[in-house]
Amino acid sequence: MARPTASPTLPFDPVSSQLRVGIEIHQQLATSTKLFCPCPIVKSEDLPLSFERRLRPTQSELGQIDPAAVFEFNKGRVNLYKWNPESACLVDADEEPPHPPSMEAIESAFLIAKMLGSSAVDEVHVMRKIVIDGSNTSGFQRTAVISLGGALAVDGGFVGVQMITVEEDSSRVLREGAESREYALDRLGVPLVEIALDHVVGVPEHVEAVALSLGRSLRSTGRVARGQGTIRQDLNVSLMGGQVVEVKGVQKLNLIAKVVRYEATRQMGLVKLSEEIKKRGITEVACESKDATKIMKGTPSPVLKRILEKGGVVTCLSVSGFAGLLGFEPFPGIRLGKELAEIARTNGLGGVIHSDEFGKQGIAENEAAALRSLTGADARAGLVLVAGEESARVDTVAALVIERVKSAPLGVLGETRAATDDGETRYQRPRPGAARLYPETDIPEIVLTDKWRQSLSKVLPVPWKEKVSSYSKKYSLSEEAALQLYDSDNSKLFEELAPKLRLEPSVVASILVEIPVRLSREGIEESKVSPEALSSVLAAVDSGRFAKEAAIDVLRSIGKGESRDVDDAVSRLGLTRMSDDDLRTIIKGVLARNKVLIEEKGDRAFSNLMGEVMKLARGRVDGQKVSSLLRKALDDSR
Ligand SMILES: [Zn+2]
Repeated sequence: MARPTASPTLPFDPVSSQLRVGIEIHQQLATSTKLFCPCPIVKSEDLPLSFERRLRPTQSELGQIDPAAVFEFNKGRVNLYKWNPESACLVDADEEPPHPPSMEAIESAFLIAKMLGSSAVDEVHVMRKIVIDGSNTSGFQRTAVISLGGALAVDGGFVGVQMITVEEDSSRVLREGAESREYALDRLGVPLVEIALDHVVGVPEHVEAVALSLGRSLRSTGRVARGQGTIRQDLNVSLMGGQVVEVKGVQKLNLIAKVVRYEATRQMGLVKLSEEIKKRGITEVACESKDATKIMKGTPSPVLKRILEKGGVVTCLSVSGFAGLLGFEPFPGIRLGKELAEIARTNGLGGVIHSDEFGKQGIAENEAAALRSLTGADARAGLVLVAGEESARVDTVAALVIERVKSAPLGVLGETRAATDDGETRYQRPRPGAARLYPETDIPEIVLTDKWRQSLSKVLPVPWKEKVSSYSKKYSLSEEAALQLYDSDNSKLFEELAPKLRLEPSVVASILVEIPVRLSREGIEESKVSPEALSSVLAAVDSGRFAKEAAIDVLRSIGKGESRDVDDAVSRLGLTRMSDDDLRTIIKGVLARNKVLIEEKGDRAFSNLMGEVMKLARGRVDGQKVSSLLRKALDDSR
């Protein structure tokens, strides 16, 4: 493995702290049907049909019940599934047995395995994996091993491949509440290829580079789906050989380093907390729980007041020796109090209030004293308030908080966490146990015959690096622009359009690659900047209807729904092309207003002047034309 350089952004050395990250990539395959039924793969906007189901934890063949399954079941949620016959059927609803798997999907996974030097199995056996969060109507996910071993080339080194599997995607979450969850069945059963890599030791940036490289390799096969939500990473993160935390659902490859940094810092923070607990001589954490509803009646705390007005209850937990430890912050944003609040939120409460932040939360001093005497806690104890409208929910959360606090001396706990959009991780559930796989009896095994393998022997993807340098050569793009183009969802559109347009390929690439990214940063959904809109904007710029500088304004207006199409945007934005005479008049005005500046700075005033003219002529004239006319006018004026 190429030696990773040190991470500039971790508050500790990742190598000596043995930061280890296992990467599992889940990538949707671009097949014509779902994995176990003939439904096409489409996202349904309209979901007219629905049914309800409550799932129960079933025993595996070994008679064990999965702790993650029990945890989800205890939440007592009802699941509502919405669907449309255009994208789901009775197989997706678990009313009909699965059909034999899509050979197109198995073929794609086999080719990916071949590319990574992973040895394919002789027979593909479909297994069931218990999933009880409701995302699968059957209560399990079907999965099949395609190959074992192999290696991914990264930065002059290799990362080992453990296993490649094909599996069905879960339902799409529409709404998640404490009582119920709503899912769309259009995504359920879509084939995914899952690739599990050997763990990577070291810096977060290197982990991201590995994932990026794998993502690019997968795309080079031309057999994977593109666009948002089609690739998801799970990261197994541990420090110093400690417990492994599974972080699920990182949707963007360029968020991986950030997520790893957060999770590694969180784990190191928990280790520091456990050292602090040991320093205080606490080996076993004593915890008392008392009903504090009466004491808190009339509290000035806004949060508690709201809950109590609705007839809610407050439970007070005292944790001996923990004063100052609940708010202890070894690294910014890393606190035990935050962990407890996450547990409360996962279980339908707003959070918890602990004694290190009583003042901030508006808990009066006399209330704090009354809570201490209620629980028999001394000044060295920490207090945690759990409050909610339903007492059963408060009891559940209080029990989980006690469990969490009692395990604080252990440091990091093995659990499943979810990646957030801003690159943090949030508690989800205990880690699933080993009792998760059992055979799918409805589907016979598939033999990968020699004849079948040979029929695929000639299909070889072009390695992504070769594809990037071919872009660079063929279209005279910089290496960086070529790589951005390769990473973009619009690279196919580029290949189709660039040869047909008179515009420079670099201009076509910047409109197709940079504008969608910029607009998505502004909060405009990627799907609103459609290939049709991009193509018609390029055609308009190509025919000289408006300047390339206006392309972003036109696409923004369409993306926001202010304009129906390019024609509409052109008239709304007043983008009639400016005549050379009008442009000369503007330039004249700008030069006149900047006489002093021109005298002082001479030629160095050019960029300021250019900026001012572009602002006045925005989108109605080409930047190059402005530059040449301005240059001429500036020379003439002196
Ligand atoms: Zn179906």
